Amino acid sequence: MLILWWARRDLRLIDNPVLEYAARHNARVVPVYVHAPDEEAPWQPGAANNWWRCTSLQALDQQLQNRNGRLIVRSGSSAETLRALAQKLGADAVMWNRLYEPHLVQRDRGVKTTLLNADIETKNFSGHLLLEPHRSCKPSGEPYRVFTPYWKNAASFINRTSTPDEPPAICWDGQELPSQSPGDLAEFQPEPWHQQLAAHWEPGESAANAALNQFVDQHLHSYAELRDHPGELGTSRLSPHLHFGEISVQRVWNAVTSSPENGSKFLSELGWREFAHHLLWHFPETPRANFNPRFDHYPWRKPTVGDPALRAWQRGRTGIAMVDAAMRELWQCGWMHNRMRMLCGSLLTKNLGIHWHAGAEWFWDTLVDADLANNTQGWQWVAGCGADAAPFFRIFNPDTQAERFDSREQYRRRWLPQGAASVPPMVDLKSSRARALAAYKDNCTGND
Ligand code: FAD
Repeated sequence: MLILWWARRDLRLIDNPVLEYAARHNARVVPVYVHAPDEEAPWQPGAANNWWRCTSLQALDQQLQNRNGRLIVRSGSSAETLRALAQKLGADAVMWNRLYEPHLVQRDRGVKTTLLNADIETKNFSGHLLLEPHRSCKPSGEPYRVFTPYWKNAASFINRTSTPDEPPAICWDGQELPSQSPGDLAEFQPEPWHQQLAAHWEPGESAANAALNQFVDQHLHSYAELRDHPGELGTSRLSPHLHFGEISVQRVWNAVTSSPENGSKFLSELGWREFAHHLLWHFPETPRANFNPRFDHYPWRKPTVGDPALRAWQRGRTGIAMVDAAMRELWQCGWMHNRMRMLCGSLLTKNLGIHWHAGAEWFWDTLVDADLANNTQGWQWVAGCGADAAPFFRIFNPDTQAERFDSREQYRRRWLPQGAASVPPMVDLKSSRARALAAYKDNCTGND
């Protein structure tokens, strides 16, 4: 049996359902990556995501070459490329692991139809989440809108399924096929900015496993206590590895549940990832539409390109030290601590009154872990218009956040060389807070 593995965001050999299936059936496997950025519209990956993807594909290709295989990279329509390759090789089936973003679900349906019309069998698997996004619903069949009951119900389905520790033995095929190199694809061309990212991250499956081991051994025990302190190494930094499927989330879950430490706080963060996918699945319009339509009347400003306030926020020049440190952390390493994402989002959408879309777009371009479900959920939460969102009146105060979570100024000193903001604050926190609350009261509080 010969299988084409359509690799997408499952860039791993360990605990990959397609490969486990192939090994069980003694199948030969040709690994294929199809570069088709137009098919990801309107959510083509941003610059940081593209850098990660390219580097991760190179790492996967290297892993395959070490096993006498090779990643075949092609550009063009996914459906046509896979059909032509499958027919040329006489493959028995094309297989992939499912993704859940609405535009990708639609694309994948089209690919499946094209292949079936050409008499090529397809098979797809669940390998990106702990649970299918539609699995945990209310008894009425409706989706959950609040995290706690969602997670209580979802967690009851998540058994500790055992996960392999090693890649399965696979007979790789297709080495002789012509292939592009990921580094040659236009979207992946290196920019000077990428040099900075490379100094902070190592994409790929080996690095993902090393990050998991290090986290469980050294940081899980203090996660609940330190996870809110951006100056500490308190969280796992697994988010880009999980986004690209370099490690399976079930493997992360198992490593944490089999540790003697209490991992429940960390597991519930994995739960937020599941919840974000559940919301995007059931409410596919929410990357642009407010989850709570009351906010459709909120007078957020939609900035044009080059808007000075937006630009100051993006470049860490607001004059508010915690925010500037965080925005510089993002610019320098393509990642930002979760508490700081909330703080920077609150300043943008509430104190500066700028639409959450502008913040989500900047994060989309600059985060190595940019993920449509998590980013949408995060921005809607912080802007107040999301499912189970921060109440609108919860406007983060950067000074209080600094006192509580960076009292020794470790974080600010790390990202702001001078230790404090170099320009006067661009906004008065007190009056802008009052303005935001008044706008909310006037536009969003109806009688319903
Ligand atoms: P850990 O604390 O170690 O958590 C482990 C894993 O759980 C993470 O890797 C992530 O996969 C998941 N997770 C943790 N917190 C959340 C959360 N609040 N929502 C969903 N999943 C979570 N996360 C992304 O992966 N991609 C995004 O594009 C993204 N955009 C965000 C935008 C805003 C405005 C906000 C407030 C949050 C956003 N998050 C996003 C969620 C969160 O900030 C990151 O997942 C987290 O900071 C990643 O760091 P970590 O891996 O060290 O997390």
